[in-house]
Amino acid sequence: MHEAVSTAPGRHAVVIGGGIGGLATAAGLHRLGWRVTVLERATRPREAGAGISLLTNAQRALDRLGFGAQVRARSVSMAPGGEGLRAPSGRRLQHPADPRFLSRHGLSLIVLLRPDLHGLLRAALPPGALRTGADAVGVEDLPDGAVVRYGSAHGEERVRGDVVIAADGLNSRFRHLLWPSAARPVYSGHSVWRGIAGGGVGAIAEPGGGTWGRGLEFGRMPLPGHRVYWFAVANTPEGARFPDGHAEVRRRFGSWHRPIPELIAATPPGDVLHHEVFELAEPLPGYVSGRVALLGDAAHAMTSDLGQGACQALEDAVVLCAALATEPAVPAALARYERERRPRTQGIAAASRRMGRTKMTERCWDLACRSVMMRLRSPRAAEEGMLYLGDWRPPRLPGPVPA
Ligand SMILES: Cc1cc2nc3c(=O)[nH]c(=O)nc-3n(C[C@H](O)[C@H](O)[C@H](O)COP(=O)(O)OP(=O)(O)OC[C@H]3O[C@@H](n4cnc5c(N)ncnc54)[C@H](O)[C@@H]3O)c2cc1C
Repeated sequence: MHEAVSTAPGRHAVVIGGGIGGLATAAGLHRLGWRVTVLERATRPREAGAGISLLTNAQRALDRLGFGAQVRARSVSMAPGGEGLRAPSGRRLQHPADPRFLSRHGLSLIVLLRPDLHGLLRAALPPGALRTGADAVGVEDLPDGAVVRYGSAHGEERVRGDVVIAADGLNSRFRHLLWPSAARPVYSGHSVWRGIAGGGVGAIAEPGGGTWGRGLEFGRMPLPGHRVYWFAVANTPEGARFPDGHAEVRRRFGSWHRPIPELIAATPPGDVLHHEVFELAEPLPGYVSGRVALLGDAAHAMTSDLGQGACQALEDAVVLCAALATEPAVPAALARYERERRPRTQGIAAASRRMGRTKMTERCWDLACRSVMMRLRSPRAAEEGMLYLGDWRPPRLPGPVPA
């Protein structure tokens, strides 16, 4: 299905990190005829137990990489924002997006299980390309390539590549190695519980939507099999642990409007995940150093408030593949990648931070202003925000798009 078109005979890419960003880039480069090696620290695939939503920009990136149809086949499609925003009582705060506007711009959100997306990307790699239990520890730039050192069950090993893509996530070691004085990720102030309500609840939760309270948010999205992916966000002190996540969500959100209590009740208590939200609040001065490019959260970790982290990693993947396929030399390709990706990703990270502050505010004055603004805001403003995120056109990749 992912047959390689050889635009790069003999060229080898070393990708550090087998998350969504690293796997998508490796799969794209493999399709373009590159040899790829993915070093992944974990010994087994993670990412169980949660859903992920992908806006049109990410869907277009997946189309370019040849995964669009397979991903859609495992997803449910919904209008971005679903039925709109409500207050905990159920009172409407914001109307749903105009369906004519959405269809004019082809805007939609697809929702699927994270392991399904990971599994599809992993399956597109050639045998032996993914090395698990491989903890990359350093890189040495050479005039015509770069050597990555990594620890494995066999001790320290090395692998040489023409390009190195560091997609090693939020706490990227390579970001720190290449920009030692860059600021570390900071805590946003809020954390998220996530769960999947079991089969049969889909009908009561259609067509998805969001609810904002005082420093609290609950979002719900349909999943295949009449299940529902939900997330519950609250301001929590950094490092706080909640031994019984299900009870915590019930305590904070159990009296909110239907179908929120029903969704919580339909979620197996042991399956509720809890994550603190961190971001790279100070933008990096660059994404490229020598033959190493940072990608995804390693380059621009953002809060989850706009649901764009993985979408941006997928955009990065396509732009980097297109640049490596069309520029004559790796340094020129990486320079183009950095030029094209920094403004957009850093703009979206800033927008995500602003959205988080608006959503999570607890101050009475801010809450009053928020409600007035939501009443007065023209639908056009919300539409422009959606277009900025979703109406992104990926560059073309050489060769036929895989079926
Ligand atoms: C609660 C929450 C909900 C979210 N929901 C959405 C959503 O709905 N839609 C969306 O678009 N985004 C969402 N995001 C953001 C999204 O999950 C991330 O932006 C995305 O997963 C980043 O992918 P990545 O490949 O850059 O990094 P990661 O997924 O973090 O992958 C990095 C990989 O690198 C490996 N690694 C790290 N260091 C090394 C090393 N030294 N050597 C080898 N391997 C290494 C790690 O084990 C990991 O597998 C959400 C985030 C959170 C916290």
